[in-house]
Amino acid sequence: MQIPSKKDSFFTVLTENWGQIPIGTPDDLHQLYKTEQPFIDLYNRISDCLACKLAQFRSKTVPGSGSNTSKLMLIGEGPGKKEDELGLPFVGRSGQFLEKMLLNIGLSRQDVYITNVVKCRPPDNRDPLTQEIKACNNFLQEQIAIVNPIVIATLGRFSMSIWFPDEKISQIHGEAKNVDGRLIMPMYHPAAALRNGNLRKTIQEDFLKIKKLLVEIK
Ligand code: URA
Repeated sequence: MQIPSKKDSFFTVLTENWGQIPIGTPDDLHQLYKTEQPFIDLYNRISDCLACKLAQFRSKTVPGSGSNTSKLMLIGEGPGKKEDELGLPFVGRSGQFLEKMLLNIGLSRQDVYITNVVKCRPPDNRDPLTQEIKACNNFLQEQIAIVNPIVIATLGRFSMSIWFPDEKISQIHGEAKNVDGRLIMPMYHPAAALRNGNLRKTIQEDFLKIKKLLVEIK
């Protein structure tokens, strides 16, 4: 086996550069994530939603972005500060890491559909509460019905627990399970890799498993 040199290692490059990757100005981003039917009606309903207390704290709702016909849907936790400012999911540091992981399996953000379990930012980035996740679940289910993905990657424990409420992410990450005709792939949240560098390789390997699934179902 050929050992990659430090210079060539993806993770060396990532560690040194990820914080500086330009992801574009807000205008570029909005161009990139233009909303098209059938999402327009749904996104309008999300922006009017007052079903839970998170509505009081938001600047913008963050419904989702990407391809409405993608075979792969990624579901995170909830918007952070940057997402709340721009109304787009995963545009902060976690998003930069996620984008790298996608690029590594030959995908861009426009190839996949990205959303969160809650569409409004929890104050101070606290965890979303059970009743907030429940209040937002109809929107998520509508998104799943529209996109009709074959693979759903849950990013972190909150989206994982929609399908696997009693499991631990450390035990089931990277193992897709067929639930009602879709493959649900539990993954660590990208922010976990930013906190704990040891998880980067694990997350990268789990993304490679997603790639394998997408090739198999072609
Ligand atoms: N940004 C998101 O949109 N979702 C997360 O879970 C984290 C950051």
